[in-house]
Amino acid sequence: MKIISTPIELKEYLKNSNKTVGFVPTMGALHEGHITLIKEARKANELVVVSIFVNPTQFLKGEDLDKYPRKDEADKKICELSGVDILFFPDAGSIYGDDEVSINAPKVRGFVLEGFSRPGHFNGVLTVVMKLLNMVNPTRAYFGKKDAQQLNLISLMVKQFFMNVEIVGVDTVRESDGLALSSRNVYLSTKERKEALKISSSLQTAAKMISKDVLNVDEIIKKMREILNPLEIYYVEVLNHNFEIVKEVELGNTVILVEVKVGTTRLLDNIWL
Ligand code: AMP
Repeated sequence: MKIISTPIELKEYLKNSNKTVGFVPTMGALHEGHITLIKEARKANELVVVSIFVNPTQFLKGEDLDKYPRKDEADKKICELSGVDILFFPDAGSIYGDDEVSINAPKVRGFVLEGFSRPGHFNGVLTVVMKLLNMVNPTRAYFGKKDAQQLNLISLMVKQFFMNVEIVGVDTVRESDGLALSSRNVYLSTKERKEALKISSSLQTAAKMISKDVLNVDEIIKKMREILNPLEIYYVEVLNHNFEIVKEVELGNTVILVEVKVGTTRLLDNIWL
């Protein structure tokens, strides 16, 4: 595995390769969710590039940028063992300069759900993803469905900017008790981790209701809110796959999204039906 720390070196290294490239952008503190993305990239491409970059522009003032978990040595080992060819590990100075051009998330879709509680977050996400995609120029780039709105907005950016990359969404990887894997789970105390199970439990209940033909969105959301109580809820939404509000669930075209605060930790999860 080759470790590269500057964009120029990365571009130079990839320049003359005419191999298919699978790219997995991450913020490190790698877990099984990230490893699954890497495995998917490994299956379909000749070269696999992973980036580890805790992107400062997607954190709002007062968020956890400084205490975001960093596990550089363990991450390098995981990448090596997962068959990564190139690990891109830049510092912020090589990615950002002063007075920069940046990408604005769409005014509606980028400022609802997580974008509502974190205004500007998706500007930072889209800007760094645009930069990384331009550096790597991959055939395919892999993103988790756990961050459903992020996946939706990146797919939209790639389409609207006529970019030549296939965006691949990968199913959410969970602990055996249902909790979606997240680098932020390390913030949870034992008690909070138990509380956090209400998230997957509310989603499972929604899926069960739907399997019994309860398709009314208000009814489903009400039940989910009862299960999530007393957690602080940012949102519980039932949308179609274009992230539009619907009144009735349509099987094959529904995503149910939850974001809550457990202790001081913001956790999100969703299911696609
Ligand atoms: P992050 O390091 O949190 O920015 O995540 C990097 C990528 O891994 C993103 O595309 C995430 O959606 C994806 N990811 C994070 N957690 C999971 C998970 N539990 N299952 C699948 N993908 C995930």
